[in-house]
Amino acid sequence: MNLPMEREGECHSCGECCQTVNMTVVRDVTLQQHGNMQELQRYLSYRGIQVVGSDEKRNQLYYSMDVPCSELTSDNRCRVHGKKEKPLICQRFPESKEDVEDIKNCGFRFTPVLPGQSIRG
Ligand code: SF4
Ligand code: SF4
Repeated sequence: MNLPMEREGECHSCGECCQTVNMTVVRDVTLQQHGNMQELQRYLSYRGIQVVGSDEKRNQLYYSMDVPCSELTSDNRCRVHGKKEKPLICQRFPESKEDVEDIKNCGFRFTPVLPGQSIRG
């Protein structure tokens, strides 16, 4: 059973979620283009891109590029926080436990809401 998840905690400005650009691409088309996963990984590695996940069922591949955000200050603050210039995805982050599962020090965590419990607003 897939229980709804509740987000708890808060951002403590570790800056980890601002260090990479993550992308999702169509798995079968991409592997067809490159021949196989090894070839794809070689091609991407020359450009500093890593394949960090593969989901056959969803037909998706996940890429990550080490490209720190230009709006991240040296003390890990977001220069555009609270402003309309802050990207929507950053305003919403993290939306799911998958968003933070590779970020050990994130101040947010997700816990399942058991039947009979309500999600706090
Ligand atoms: S805009 Fe702000 S929150 Fe978004 S990646 Fe850049 S520094 Fe981080
Ligand atoms: S990884 Fe979590 S705690 Fe760190 S800056 Fe991002 S939202 Fe905040």
